[in-house]
Amino acid sequence: MNLPSVDEANPAGGRIQRSSSLVEDVYEAVFAQLMSLKIAPGSRITVDSLVKEFNVSHTPIREALGRLEGEGLVLKTHLIGYRAAPQITKRRFDELYELRLLLEPHGAAKAAVLMDEAKLAQLQKSAGVMARREGKDERLRYSNFARQDAIFHDKVMEFANNELVRETLAHQHTHFHIFRLMFHSRVTEEALDEHEAILAAFAAADPAAAEQAMRRHIEHSRDRLLLAFD
Ligand SMILES: [Zn+2]
Repeated sequence: MNLPSVDEANPAGGRIQRSSSLVEDVYEAVFAQLMSLKIAPGSRITVDSLVKEFNVSHTPIREALGRLEGEGLVLKTHLIGYRAAPQITKRRFDELYELRLLLEPHGAAKAAVLMDEAKLAQLQKSAGVMARREGKDERLRYSNFARQDAIFHDKVMEFANNELVRETLAHQHTHFHIFRLMFHSRVTEEALDEHEAILAAFAAADPAAAEQAMRRHIEHSRDRLLLAFD
């Protein structure tokens, strides 16, 4: 989730910076379409159609698709081209949630012990971004929520102070895959309250409450998205 910003990548600015932000724009737009299922899982993505849709050249499209490929959301097949990654299977879904339930409640308890004002402020900021309802584009809002949720959970694991566990979870791109199961406001609205409970436990520096709140959030998240397999 540590995506370098354009400015960090190219502090000198100039032409490359402009084309990098173009890649960023295309990336965000395609990401939103994948998250909100406008681009259906498993369907073909042709560079030419995106060129037409966004009115940009092939290069930023290919770069953006390459980045999505790195996140497991797009697959590239030699001579055939790009397609959206298929939906995760029920088995994979169960495995991801088992992994999360094994690691994240414990991580939340550890983070609560190590919590301080500065860390709490970062988590509150991240949760606050998710609660915002600005912008008319429902798809964009949904995809932003998915990304912020990934950042929020990654931060908790960062504060739990075990890089190996953090990397293990990050490499699964869990949030991108689970949010893509269903495009529904329930997925985001209920999660907000659950995040508040986690934050309250962190504010109280209460490891048992943090562990319980995180477990409850992940279990509820699982139950909400389980409906996608009906
Ligand atoms: Zn969450």
